[in-house]
Amino acid sequence: MPLPIGHALAGIAMRQARPALFFANRWHDALFFVFLANLPDADFLPGIIMGRPSLYHHGIFHSLGAALALAIVGGWIFCLNRKSYWATASGIFLVYYFHLLLDFFAMDFVAPYGLPLFWPFSSRYFIAADPVFINVTRSQHSHDFLASLFSGHNLNAALREILILGGLALAMALLRRRLEKKRRARQEREF
Ligand SMILES: [Zn+2]
Repeated sequence: MPLPIGHALAGIAMRQARPALFFANRWHDALFFVFLANLPDADFLPGIIMGRPSLYHHGIFHSLGAALALAIVGGWIFCLNRKSYWATASGIFLVYYFHLLLDFFAMDFVAPYGLPLFWPFSSRYFIAADPVFINVTRSQHSHDFLASLFSGHNLNAALREILILGGLALAMALLRRRLEKKRRARQEREF
């Protein structure tokens, strides 16, 4: 699994494709993208409470079923707030499922290896044969779980994520700016 910083950068990159999808306020919108991009890792919380952080990690929260369920419910909530159901539901699905794809491309040395990408249609766990991201080392006990994340190994993992996903966010931002410039120039020509 990439670290929260990697997932946050992925969320920011995805926001460039459709800014103001969820909220008109750019900060609220960006924060919601970042929240969604990290949401699957909330499956650490019940394990942390029970003393074993990885107990439910990479379970059904990291599955197609969870992404679909969240998209259906989330789209409905946004629809009640006068947003397009399909646009917000598909946005939620894509940002959430992109988290799973990033996890798929990360090294994983803690059982269960990989994640149930297609649950409930398949219970099989999937992991990339050629990972892009370095594994994150972490304690299997709640009392030192947070402290265990601050290690040289994880710093190395974070730097790689910043390079790849920060680069993606930057490329998406530049592309969006260029497209907007073109659109504005076309509009000015038309008037
Ligand atoms: Zn994850």
